[in-house]
Amino acid sequence: MTPTHTSLSLQGQAALVTGASSGIGRAMALAFGHAGADVAVNFVRDADGAEAVVQELRTMGRRAVALRADVSREGDVDAMFQRAIGALGTLHIVVCNAGLQRDAPLEQMTLEQWNTVIAVNLTGQFLCARGAVREFKRRGPQGPSAALGKIICISSVHQQIPWAGHANYAASKAGVMLLMQTMAQELAAERIRVNAIAPGAIRTPINADAWRTREAEDALLKLIPHGRVGEPDDVARAALWLASDASDYVTGATLFVDGGMALYPAFIGGG
Ligand code: NAD
Repeated sequence: MTPTHTSLSLQGQAALVTGASSGIGRAMALAFGHAGADVAVNFVRDADGAEAVVQELRTMGRRAVALRADVSREGDVDAMFQRAIGALGTLHIVVCNAGLQRDAPLEQMTLEQWNTVIAVNLTGQFLCARGAVREFKRRGPQGPSAALGKIICISSVHQQIPWAGHANYAASKAGVMLLMQTMAQELAAERIRVNAIAPGAIRTPINADAWRTREAEDALLKLIPHGRVGEPDDVARAALWLASDASDYVTGATLFVDGGMALYPAFIGGG
């Protein structure tokens, strides 16, 4: 782990990361553990992946627990919070990361594809953020963090870049943007910080088709001024900063971790 991870401390804090058995969620859970946090690792299907993350966290000396829950189901989310709080005492950091894609051209997109993506990517973030706020307020201000609590929403560059063939996904992430900003406005006076990360193209299972072959990766790189596909740890370092007291005066912000993807790369030549 890089020194950046260890110079920001989450010592004595407890975090819940949704969708943490793989990809960006896994990287954030491990980064938080390296910084001293205990971590609840949510998963929906991949129990083995979640257990591997838990074992890695325990090897670091952290308390860790794997919790199965579908973030789009209210009963699952409420039970997950109860079990996380039972295992770790309270929560100081909640990362709403779980997400999926169900891609189709608009005229072929089924209502089920639309509803599934909105339910997981948007309603799931609402349910988990609400659970977080309830726990932060129940616990009250005593604790190791300057804030009462921190919520991090994992959005996407597609909260602002239209994405043909992915209308459901782009709409869900645009919804996350104003959900996050509204929560930040509503909760700032109570010292609950709410921020978002908008990743660009990060090498994870969700977008494997975009980087699996040389041709696909070359096409993708044309959209990334930085010149490389992002890694989960690129996002994890940003999440660690947003979770730590180093960002104590930051709320309602979206941090783009995208190698410049949102900077209209088609205009690099001057247009
Ligand atoms: P990933 O597929 O590895 O991670 C998504 C996780 O969410 C998986 O572990 C999956 O099991 C879980 N999940 C899906 N539905 C769930 C549900 N109903 N309840 C609980 N968990 C559920 O891919 P990733 O790239 O790590 O994605 C993490 C987040 O980052 C997502 O919100 C995604 O939209 C966002 N994102 C990713 C990229 C990228 O390029 N990889 C870019 C922008 C945004």
